[in-house]
Amino acid sequence: MNMNLPADVSKIINILESNGHEAYAVGGCVRDCILGKVPHDWDITTSALPETVKSYFDRTFDTGIEHGTVTVLLHGVGYEVTTYRVDGKYEDGRHPKEVTFTASLEEDLKRRDFTINAMAYNDSKGLVDLFGGKEDLEAGIIRAVGNPTERFTEDALRMLRALRFSAQLGFEIEPETYKAICELAPTLDRISAERIQVEMVKLVTSDHPERLREVYNTGLSKVFFPELNVMMECEQNNKHHMYTVGEHAIKAMELSPADKVIRLTMMLHDVAKPACKTTDDKGQNHFKMHPVKGAEMARDVLRRLKFDNDTTDKVCNLVKNHDDRPEINERNVRRMIIRVGKENFEDLLAVKRADTLAQSMYHRDEKLAYIDELEQMYKSIIAAGDCLKIKDLQINGKDLIDMGVPQGQRIGEILKAVFDEVVDNPKLNNRDYLLNRVKDMLQ
Ligand code: ATP
Ligand code: MG
Repeated sequence: MNMNLPADVSKIINILESNGHEAYAVGGCVRDCILGKVPHDWDITTSALPETVKSYFDRTFDTGIEHGTVTVLLHGVGYEVTTYRVDGKYEDGRHPKEVTFTASLEEDLKRRDFTINAMAYNDSKGLVDLFGGKEDLEAGIIRAVGNPTERFTEDALRMLRALRFSAQLGFEIEPETYKAICELAPTLDRISAERIQVEMVKLVTSDHPERLREVYNTGLSKVFFPELNVMMECEQNNKHHMYTVGEHAIKAMELSPADKVIRLTMMLHDVAKPACKTTDDKGQNHFKMHPVKGAEMARDVLRRLKFDNDTTDKVCNLVKNHDDRPEINERNVRRMIIRVGKENFEDLLAVKRADTLAQSMYHRDEKLAYIDELEQMYKSIIAAGDCLKIKDLQINGKDLIDMGVPQGQRIGEILKAVFDEVVDNPKLNNRDYLLNRVKDMLQ
């Protein structure tokens, strides 16, 4: 087996080897190369101790030196070089209590999570594959290295990682590994929200976001996202729908672009439907106000998972507006763009399309035609350069002060009043007109 290592990776390995150490590319990069994908980073594992690694290179950082990791910087790219190690006991199912360095590559590979992630390669030794990783890669299988129950007891996050890799690669989880996940799912509660978030983002932005279903089926979602369980168990009984709330959300994720904000929005857009469900006398369900309530619930979920404010605000805004359907005319759409934010409007169109495509065929063509029309109107408003923010007005606070309006709240009120008029009639955004208009208002 021959892999094409980047020149700088070969260089690091050669320097370590020529000084009498062992060194290999390892983990994700080996897996991705065998799959014919371009690895996004290269990790190196070596028998050399961290201080020794540092002595061979001009530019290094102590990224995780207590765990044996040094970053070597070559041509502006960082390579993580980690000393062979054995992880100590994971007493809290979270962090290894201590790591011990070892001289054995085998020991280092044994501590890794899945067979497909436990391969090493260098040009002199070729592929080192002690657990059948290549075979599993070819068969499309995620299998724990060694005994899955033991491995998930050491670090419970590995259970969610198994689903994340199955989503990224489109692989199946080997039955014993899957069974262990189902049994140990409740122990995911020991894992920090930040680590869960990382894996969830990778899963939902993958080619197979429908594997979210397995996060539910295995019992993992119950620990950190019980709202998903409620969604998966909520029937819709409504002519617009043919799936449960949860299955509809999953379909909508599959039908949307693989963008973090959009996929999280599709996952959460109907999160409040179960809570807002009412049944009419014909047996049809309705979900009044679910977008507004949904934005609140989405905020709870995203806060719990420690998402940053920017992501959280964007997703909640899209959830809140996902079902807005004003009659299409310039005034309404201009107001809608202002409400949603110009910078979010294209995301909202993507959200609306995915939502529609994941519904029943009932009125589908009309729904899609409406979204097309909304998009056309949005584009023409943007192209016209219409005023969409107070800042876009041809007058500002300073003009008002020059006209004798005292500094303070009044300025904002006047500008807001003028802005409201301009939004309904963009032709009025003319400096002379607006100055006169303000004069009238001040009379
Ligand atoms: P990605 O392409 O997402 O970076 P990756 O396989 O490189 O995938 P990382 O999380 O970057 O995944 O981890 C690098 C390597 O470290 C893995 O391939 C695996 O060998 C090992 N590893 C990472 N996390 C764990 C863990 N929780 N338990 C055991 N081994 C792990
Ligand atoms: Mg990686």
